[in-house]
Amino acid sequence: MSKFRCKSCGGTYSDRTPEGGAYFHVCPPEIITHAVTSTDGKVVTEEKRVQRANARNESPRAGISHFEGKWQREVPDPETPGRLLTQDAEYGIVSEGAGRELVE
Ligand SMILES: [Zn+2]
Repeated sequence: MSKFRCKSCGGTYSDRTPEGGAYFHVCPPEIITHAVTSTDGKVVTEEKRVQRANARNESPRAGISHFEGKWQREVPDPETPGRLLTQDAEYGIVSEGAGRELVE
C-alpha cells in the first residue's frame, strides 16, 4: 500500500481501499469557494465554482480493467464467436492531470 498526493487537487489518498481493493483517485470536478455572509445574513462574497483544469482521473480507460495488479483488456476470440480472450494491456488511466507524488 502506498499513499499519494495528487498534484492537481492537492488531495492525499491511498492506492488501496480499507478492504484491500485497488482505489483509483478522481479529482473533484469543481473548485468551490464558499460564499461569505455578514452577521446579519447578507452575502458579502458570492459562492464561486470553477471547473478544475487538468483534473486527474485514475479510472481505467474504456475497455481496460485492473485485475490482480495487472492491466487487462478483453478481445473477441477469433476462433470462437461470442467468447472473449483476456490480453495484457498497457497501463491506462483516463487522465494523468498534473501527476501525483508518493507521500509514504
Ligand atoms: Zn486530485
